[in-house]
Amino acid sequence: MTPAEDRLRGRIAAEGPITVAEFMAEANAAYYAGRDPLGAGGDFVTAPEISQMFGELVGVWLADLWLRAGRPGTARYVELGPGRGTLAEDALRAMRGTGLEPPLDLVETSPALRRAQAGRLPAARWHEDVSTLPDSGPLLVVANEFFDALPVRQLAPGGRELRVRFDDGRFVRDQADEIVEDSPASLAVVRALAARLAAQGGAALIVDYGHERPARGDTLQAVRGHAFADPWEAPGTRDLTAHVDFAALADAAREAGARAFGPRSQGEWLDAMGIQLRAASLAKAAPERTEEIAAARERLTAPAQMGRLFKALALTAPGWPEPEAF
Ligand code: SAH
Repeated sequence: MTPAEDRLRGRIAAEGPITVAEFMAEANAAYYAGRDPLGAGGDFVTAPEISQMFGELVGVWLADLWLRAGRPGTARYVELGPGRGTLAEDALRAMRGTGLEPPLDLVETSPALRRAQAGRLPAARWHEDVSTLPDSGPLLVVANEFFDALPVRQLAPGGRELRVRFDDGRFVRDQADEIVEDSPASLAVVRALAARLAAQGGAALIVDYGHERPARGDTLQAVRGHAFADPWEAPGTRDLTAHVDFAALADAAREAGARAFGPRSQGEWLDAMGIQLRAASLAKAAPERTEEIAAARERLTAPAQMGRLFKALALTAPGWPEPEAF
């Protein structure tokens, strides 16, 4: 039995069935706390781990907004769920090229991943959530595959929230004819971020997999060792994610005072940001890597790969310029 299974079973025995959101929160906290799940030897691969081009273009996008806003104040680089710190390293290198060297604030709850990040980004400061981010100076924020890991509620028609029991040696979710999901946890983070952008200036780029409009259905899934797995089995040993509802995030951001742009598919966004030129210049500098670079670009942008399912949503402070590539 995994420690997370033990805790969840104890809780259900004491309090009765728990919500899907509670199950997901507990399972993912345990999952991320003890491991680095990224890369070929782990459970899944993310865009920044596929190629440096991804983080570099994120850095260029943020720096461009800051430059066109008139280089205001001490801008900070903020990342939510920075994984191995790869995206931050690539983005910061690209930012330095434009004369921007922001201090780093990382929102990360996993002790194992904080250690990995500290090895590469020793000057960073860490936060448990967005509430403790510094309250002055513009925030240049990025979140890649962060929101998909936050808990979702699953609701039956009529609004009954689905729960999870432990029966006959396994976790079982309530039956429902139809399932609708929402993620109050994600909306709370976006509202807090948008309010900060409105008050302090700045912009945010949210990249994740999901749908443009609210979709019906059960999107909760588990991934382990690069394959789909049963989300209700062995909690804490597999990554639980759900599709991100970009329209809901954009609405929440607007209500909290920010402007929202997109979502746009990751492939279109990377193309508009000039990934083709970046790939060409990398290949010119390292001709022996030409094929590998082309393959990485294809994986990030092709509709049949990550290009369409993954989407980018931009948030900006009200007085800031319109973002590039939206
Ligand atoms: N952005 C990275 C990692 C994605 S994995 C990349 O693209 O490679 C999800 C990341 O979010 C991990 O760093 C994980 O530890 C972090 N995370 C998950 N739930 C979190 C939460 N509730 N609060 C803060 N960080 C969280």
